[in-house]
Amino acid sequence: MHTTLCGHAIGAPIEYAMVAMELGIDVITITCHIPMEWEAFGQEGIRMRRDQLDQYRSLVYDTAEKAKPFGVEVLCGIEAEVYPDEAQMKSMDEILAEFEWDFVLGSLHAQCQSYLTWLTKNKVKDDAMRIDSYFRHLKDGAQSGRYDSMSHPDVIRTYGVVSEFKPAKHEEVIRDFLQAVVDENICIEVNTSGLTKGDFEVHPDPLILDWASEMGVKLTIGSDSHRPSSVGQFFDTIQPMLREKGFKDLHYFRARERIRIDMPKWD
Ligand SMILES: [Zn+2]
Ligand SMILES: [Zn+2]
Repeated sequence: MHTTLCGHAIGAPIEYAMVAMELGIDVITITCHIPMEWEAFGQEGIRMRRDQLDQYRSLVYDTAEKAKPFGVEVLCGIEAEVYPDEAQMKSMDEILAEFEWDFVLGSLHAQCQSYLTWLTKNKVKDDAMRIDSYFRHLKDGAQSGRYDSMSHPDVIRTYGVVSEFKPAKHEEVIRDFLQAVVDENICIEVNTSGLTKGDFEVHPDPLILDWASEMGVKLTIGSDSHRPSSVGQFFDTIQPMLREKGFKDLHYFRARERIRIDMPKWD
């Protein structure tokens, strides 16, 4: 979940924590968008500035103190970027190293001008090539050691980046990515915000979740809330599906250490 510092979220973090309490969720992690130097990643209205990081962390820690009496633990994470050009990652890596984070998400925002520029430059034109390159870059991200969980791992299907996304046509490259996640002992994120967009499916697509379950991929779960009322959105809806697919547990991170919990009951 996010804070107003990114410029496109509303509500105070304590309001998010209070909704979590009402839903019986006892740990939440704030993961605002990490500052990036290059304009093409989007700046004002997309992510906080680098000089706001201290403010961000204070906000999260103050919220943690306030939420404690209500039985909700609030952790301090960050949503970092996955990107194929290492030269663009230098300032981000400094931020990852400079602060102690509980949790680092790895997102390849395929709809961002930065990635669209990369695709054009590298002559990745048709949908099939775009989808394959997206999952190859996610795999590289998984192997980079930067991230604890790969977030909304099929976000390329949204925002008109490709006209259709049929995971079955890209099984090999998607399984390669999932295998890297298993080998690196990190997680993928089940992100319920997918159910609010366009094709109204969870991220990642249920077929990818079938492969993930079969391959032993571990899951974190996120609502990607940008407003308090979407905290825990659709957790109750997707839980039967996750159980049916054979997932028995979920994971979260404190001080970058993975913690396993039994699949909660949200029904
Ligand atoms: Zn956002
Ligand atoms: Zn994201």
